Amino acid sequence: MSISFDYLIVGAGLFGATFAREMHENGKKCLVIDKRAHTGGNIYCRDEGGIHVHEYGAHIFHTDKEHVWQYVNRFVRFNHYINSPLANYKGRLYNLPFNMNTYNKLWGVNTPAEAKAKLEEQRKPYLHITEPANLEEQALKLGGEDIYRIFIKEYTEKQWGCPATELPAFIIRRLPFRFVYDNNYFNDPYQGIPIGGYNLLTDSLLDGIEVKCNTDYFDNREYFDSLADKIIFTGCIDEFFNYEFGHLDYRSLRFEHERLEMEDFQGNAVVNYNEASVPFTRIIEHKHFEFGKQSHTVITREYPQAYEPGQEPYYPINNEKNMERMKLYRERAARLPDVLFGGRLAQYAYFDMDDTVEAALLLAGKELVV
Ligand code: FAD
Repeated sequence: MSISFDYLIVGAGLFGATFAREMHENGKKCLVIDKRAHTGGNIYCRDEGGIHVHEYGAHIFHTDKEHVWQYVNRFVRFNHYINSPLANYKGRLYNLPFNMNTYNKLWGVNTPAEAKAKLEEQRKPYLHITEPANLEEQALKLGGEDIYRIFIKEYTEKQWGCPATELPAFIIRRLPFRFVYDNNYFNDPYQGIPIGGYNLLTDSLLDGIEVKCNTDYFDNREYFDSLADKIIFTGCIDEFFNYEFGHLDYRSLRFEHERLEMEDFQGNAVVNYNEASVPFTRIIEHKHFEFGKQSHTVITREYPQAYEPGQEPYYPINNEKNMERMKLYRERAARLPDVLFGGRLAQYAYFDMDDTVEAALLLAGKELVV
């Protein structure tokens, strides 16, 4: 390839694709590369007989950012899916987030006043804890015995792979208690799944832009660097700097997908499994995101697991060691004016999709005024 580009964008995920779209529309020449066989990064879906399977974990678009909602709606329309997950604990199903339906099932209470009184009674033995020393103390103080035992302890221990007494209290800053009969998980005014699937959003963002999949930046770094004036890097920042300050830790996930020749497996898109004896944390039934009417279904069991290099890094681990390392990487990155770092892996942060789009638009905007 001898042509030169204004921007080489490493990573065809939501960040890279949004940034590329903005620059392309403003007359900049972009090349997008991705080491995976497909575009879209973690929002990519595989088609299984008309069902869009969220290969890298269930993705529900939700936002309170008017400009982001309008922006994504330029590229795709959204359906009216509302996330209303269930939690299975020892065979009993409870509605999430905690709301009147949950308290009714849990304690048999019918009114908000009864629910509030019960919650206060449950919390009372723990209110003396002023500075919770760990997640267990924090959760007991916020929600009391039943909420902690049924919804938090075993689920969180599975998710993080260690006892709640060894997890920092800040993981749970607050518990979202609602006192209305409302199972809508999110508080945002806008929510849905792209009609036709997430790949339509990615394809539309990347329309007219040169994209090369199965192309790892690190396989031929010097060559790729020579192709463009500037690089937008959305991969792992520690890898970019050859792990100079050490590896950043992640929590990973393993997805076990299964096609079933039945119309409906669980009657809901998301069912959490709270108890420790079930090794997965949730089952996703993908067709329910899009109100699918197929005669088959696809489910995915989600198993949290330790991260090892080579696996997919999912959740950053915000402990002191990683934050210190990230600070060093950030300082190092600031000294490279022609490389811009964006997206969840380069910033070592969890971003929802709307935050990702917003951050990419912001970076593109800054680039365009320079
Ligand atoms: P990515 O999607 O990870 O894209 C980065 C891309 O860079 C990848 O395609 C990767 O292959 C590529 N790349 C990396 N290194 C290289 C290299 N060396 N060379 C070439 N290419 C490279 N958000 C929501 O709003 N709602 C949800 O319900 C939701 N659910 C989630 C569930 C899970 C399990 C996770 C982990 C995240 C979820 N998110 C959700 C967040 C959402 O996934 C992110 O906001 C979004 O995908 C981030 O996009 P990105 O482009 O930054 O990263």
